[in-house]
Amino acid sequence: MCGIVGYVGFRNVADLLLEGLHRLEYRGYDSAGIAVLTEQGIEVRKRAGRVAELGGLIAAQPLIGHVGIGHTRWATHGEPNDINSHPHFGGNQQVAIVHNGVIENFDSLRKQLQQLGYVFRSQTDTEVAAHLIAHHLDEQIKLGGSADDLTTCLKAVNATLDRLKGTYGLGILFTELPETIIAARSGSPLVIGVGRDEYFLASDASPLIGYTKEVVYLSDHEVAVLRADGLQIEHRHTGNIRPSIQTLQQVSADIELGDYEHYMLKEIYEQPQTVENALRGRLDMEEATAVIGGLNLTPKELRKIDRIVLTACGTSWHSGLVGEHLLEEFARLPTEVEYASELRYRNPPISDRTLIFAITQSGETADTLAAMKECKRKGHPTLAICNVVGSTIAREADGGIYLHAGPEIGVASTKAFTSQVTVLTLLSLYFGRMRHMSFPAGRRIIRQLRDMPEKIQKTLECHDKVREVADRYYHFNNFLYLGRLHNFPVALEGALKLKEISYIHAEGYPAAEMKHGPIALVDQQTPSVFVIPRGGIYPKVMSNMEEIKARKGPVIAIACEGDRDVARVADEVIYVPDVEDYLQPLVCAIPLQLLAYHVALLRGCNVDRPRNLAKSVTVE
Ligand code: GLU
Repeated sequence: MCGIVGYVGFRNVADLLLEGLHRLEYRGYDSAGIAVLTEQGIEVRKRAGRVAELGGLIAAQPLIGHVGIGHTRWATHGEPNDINSHPHFGGNQQVAIVHNGVIENFDSLRKQLQQLGYVFRSQTDTEVAAHLIAHHLDEQIKLGGSADDLTTCLKAVNATLDRLKGTYGLGILFTELPETIIAARSGSPLVIGVGRDEYFLASDASPLIGYTKEVVYLSDHEVAVLRADGLQIEHRHTGNIRPSIQTLQQVSADIELGDYEHYMLKEIYEQPQTVENALRGRLDMEEATAVIGGLNLTPKELRKIDRIVLTACGTSWHSGLVGEHLLEEFARLPTEVEYASELRYRNPPISDRTLIFAITQSGETADTLAAMKECKRKGHPTLAICNVVGSTIAREADGGIYLHAGPEIGVASTKAFTSQVTVLTLLSLYFGRMRHMSFPAGRRIIRQLRDMPEKIQKTLECHDKVREVADRYYHFNNFLYLGRLHNFPVALEGALKLKEISYIHAEGYPAAEMKHGPIALVDQQTPSVFVIPRGGIYPKVMSNMEEIKARKGPVIAIACEGDRDVARVADEVIYVPDVEDYLQPLVCAIPLQLLAYHVALLRGCNVDRPRNLAKSVTVE
């Protein structure tokens, strides 16, 4: 959450920061602001609301300079208003900072600073860090330092960091320190773009695209000094380090909308391609298995594994539930799916033959990272299933599998879900073939997987029908989503999509479970969305559907092409291609993504920037 951008170099910094904030806006859109080093000192422009509004303010009150920092906020402390927007000044405007994360001991620090005479303007935890830096700068000056001296400023920053508890990614400007940004990280991502006579700072690589491909990922406890003529990085405990420069793979078209109206729709339509990318080079017909390169464990070590824990949040947690079915079915490996936010504080027994996978699109999800670290600390091998190359979780894991889905900008995850399910299917095939699965069975799965990009392409043909259904049902205020076995997680995911972007109350349930409670909600005003493709226990789900109809509940069914039986019972049928049971989540999720998208549009909601949410949840 929260977007940070910074620049030192020769360009007009206000324009560059504004463009960077536009690209980062998906990470937080409560407010936006920039601080620029000008001849008058540090000048700030900030405003509640969208980056476009900040753009209006800057057009009216321009800022001229070549060094600056910017921020889009996802508020944790204090409402999203102008005053709470970042950047925040510290002391007597000696310093300005932008911050991503949460200062957990802000309350006691604030009291201490107030006693020293510091006046707080905002309700944010961030302002504490700003004043604390100013305070330590004054202390250093009393000891003989100077406000325009880098060493003095760095000492003030380090003294401050010593006292902060919680998480931070910080961009810092000092009024008297010419042409310099200081950045520091603990728990919140920061990446530095390396240009020629210019450096960029950002919370993810999107603002750098088109400017530089060379990046340095900052690690926890590192402090960086960015100046047009050089970059210096110091580890707070071990001293100076040589920045390791990596090359960005991303190309700029990936983050552009193209002909689509919204990122969410673009990403839904990318799924034939993204699933193909997840499969590319990973199917081995000769051995009838999957090729999974990055696990960093030998086949012998992997053979010893007798249990798997998948940990994740939100949509990734739902893909984990699909993975649980597949791993247990194909590999006979007992699998558990844990909410990362719970696992990080729980103390479940985990044997030394358990393998842990953290599933995350961004690779920055704070809860997932913490759960992974807790498992790692105990000595368990921890692997990641992740989309963003070079992200914190990707770097901290012992190994893992990338999704290769390209940047996902829409806040409601779509293509990452189907890619995660694809990768979990590959993993199940891989483990299966190490254990009980026969050669012909492995080959059959490979053939079926190969067909999936085409099947997903075909699934998108349901779009017109989904639009029609949305038109008829968008005014309802409660929905049930029901499915069984592999499609129960799909029902959960469908309900989550609707909640996230249309703010309609929706609950996902195993279809048979609804008679143990939720059926009490069913009436003419509560539509049920049934995920009911053929196979498995199809007749049982049909009975569940009849039970809803008997109580006058409207039914929208996701069913296989040509299924006339469903059409006799359901009020609406959205057809998807017929695929094997275990692959149904990959096709059935798509009409549910489209349904949420159209309902949200019809209700006038901002599909790509839903209220209260943001992409990449980097706070606990
Ligand atoms: N905790 C800070 C605030 O509420 C930063 C939030 C963010 O990461 O955007 O202002």
